[in-house]
Amino acid sequence: SKGSVGFIGIGTMGREMALNLLKAGHVVRAYDLNAEALAALAGHGALPAASPAEAARESDIAITMLPDTPQVEDVIYGAGGLLETPPAGRLVIDMSTISPVAVRRIQADLAARQVGFVDAPVSGGPIGARNATLSIMAGGEAADFARAEPYFRAMGTTITHVGGPGAGQTVKLCNQLVCALNLQAISEALALGRAAGVDLAQLRQVLLGGSAASWMLDKLGPAMIAGDASAGFRIDLMFKDLRLVQEQAQALSVPLPGTALVTTQYIDARAHGEGGNGNQALFRVYDRMSNQ
Ligand code: NAD
Repeated sequence: SKGSVGFIGIGTMGREMALNLLKAGHVVRAYDLNAEALAALAGHGALPAASPAEAARESDIAITMLPDTPQVEDVIYGAGGLLETPPAGRLVIDMSTISPVAVRRIQADLAARQVGFVDAPVSGGPIGARNATLSIMAGGEAADFARAEPYFRAMGTTITHVGGPGAGQTVKLCNQLVCALNLQAISEALALGRAAGVDLAQLRQVLLGGSAASWMLDKLGPAMIAGDASAGFRIDLMFKDLRLVQEQAQALSVPLPGTALVTTQYIDARAHGEGGNGNQALFRVYDRMSNQ
């Protein structure tokens, strides 16, 4: 029989992931600070909970899908949090993108209370979340990963145990570095093409047919060309990820000059009020530089 999940954080990604768990036959007890989001999900069969503890208490596992490290730490360590009230099946999975250092501390603190922890960030965006085609990169003990895997199968297609606690986050940070630099490369190509007067929709089609093809160009290219900045994956969240990349790189003395450069462009985007916009708005940094 299918297990039950206390799902905490039903925003852009979490909502779609929780819907897919429901579709697969799991019981979902959901919690979010946003009461409207909670009511909307209850209309699809989720049981609304009044706290993380209530979502977790009677569930086999708990999943968190929250913006950043402080929110995950709140839900784990806060009053009525998961450390105090773990799920009945004693397994917590965090699918947010957060600090690998924080993950190792959370894993150790939960392990001391006989609760397993898996860091399992995802890639594939809201589209991948909706279609249950996410790539899920998991770090943790093998036994904990094995228990988490059936739930992952309801949300993703590429599911990989990449190492011990924190390894999922490290792989995700590598993924984000590629995404940001790819967006930067696409923005530069569009800026040059536009200045030279080529048709940008056609330029995109040509690039997608050759060795410059990418997920970003495929999925975000149309919005970039149309000047549509609506989120999906917010500029603020990528900026958070680039900060995490740089923290880890500094701790390991790995020079990442490309990441340093693209981070300054994200700072520029945020300074121009684009933090709540989708990542395709990185192109507008180039609009401003060339006064377009
Ligand atoms: P989001 O802001 O849309 O959703 C986060 C949800 O968490 C919101 O509904 C918010 O109300 C809730 N929340 C915040 N603090 C809370 C707390 N203390 N207790 C309970 N609920 C709380 O963010 P998202 O786009 O769904 O991203 C979630 C995570 O997944 C982030 O770490 C992000 O970097 C990562 N991610 C996002 C995407 C994407 O394309 N959007 C893709 C891959 C990974």
